[in-house]
Amino acid sequence: KQVAELIAAGEVVERPASIVKELVENSIDAGAKNITVEIKGGGVQYIRVTDNGSGIEREDVANAFLRHATSKVRVEEDLGNIRTMGFRGEALASIAAMCRVDLLTRTQADVTGTLYRIDGEETYLDDAGCPVGTTITVRDVFYNTPARMKFLKKDVSEGNSVAAAIEKAALAYPQVAFKFLRDGMVKLQTPGDGKLLSAVRCVLGKEFADNAIHVSYMEGINRVDGLICKPSIARSSRSMQNFFINCRYVRSKTCMAALEESYRNSIMVGRFPSCVLNVTIPPYAVDVNVHPAKIEVRFADERSIFNLIYYGCKTALGTQDI
Ligand code: ADP
Ligand code: MG
Repeated sequence: KQVAELIAAGEVVERPASIVKELVENSIDAGAKNITVEIKGGGVQYIRVTDNGSGIEREDVANAFLRHATSKVRVEEDLGNIRTMGFRGEALASIAAMCRVDLLTRTQADVTGTLYRIDGEETYLDDAGCPVGTTITVRDVFYNTPARMKFLKKDVSEGNSVAAAIEKAALAYPQVAFKFLRDGMVKLQTPGDGKLLSAVRCVLGKEFADNAIHVSYMEGINRVDGLICKPSIARSSRSMQNFFINCRYVRSKTCMAALEESYRNSIMVGRFPSCVLNVTIPPYAVDVNVHPAKIEVRFADERSIFNLIYYGCKTALGTQDI
């Protein structure tokens, strides 16, 4: 069986936020320490992601836009052992099929950079001066797929989804300095100092940061790390509950239930504690291939994940005055 067939089919690109998510993941996979995202018109009009990662060799540039031409999954066994963010090799291909794309890239070893432009069937490649790293500019999102365009919401809400995607990435990668500009205005900037608390302060605000309790807990080879914060009257949803599995943002009822259960016997105002928790488990213990956008996951052992988070938070809470 072909590796490509083993990978769950599914469109990863359904709105500007999914484009941004894929591009940012590529930058992270390329080892970038600085990632800047700029959007205009909610991202429908214009998206630009600039990174200082490895860059792409000229001979690989065109290849990167071919479906399943990923440089990341080569053999069947790799699927049970996914460690990079991207693994389907279809993001760039899908984006280029539906939008106008410009890529500007240079590796450390190259003196001159490469400009590659895809506009429908037309492609164009040339020398271009640029720093080491990659800039991808996406214009006119879905201009040639009206069916998809129809499902886009108002620019404001598309832009909000883009912001949310960048916030998750900034929380998952405190060692990366993120900058987000929306219609020319800086909306988010993280220092990339490697401290989760710094990222939390920028993304989730002062109240969370000032009241954050540190979680760091191991059970066998599984571990959970991060920050939790007691509920507040100002917060009436789970929107500040951020769970990551091996640095990948997920939505999981198991994780939410474990967090909330751990707070059960503490004196609380409001119902929803907030958190930024990263669960580290072996790649084979979690199936990230159930959902095209990789947001929903299936755990091989739900109970052990519940216990890990529950006891991790309980232990942290027990050692604090709350
Ligand atoms: P995947 O991430 O699943 O491999 P993509 O379509 O997202 O597939 O990217 C295709 C390939 O292009 C990647 O495997 C990588 O080799 C290259 N690439 C994409 N974006 C970048 C980037 N920002 N920096 C370096 N290489 C990149
Ligand atoms: Mg990718």
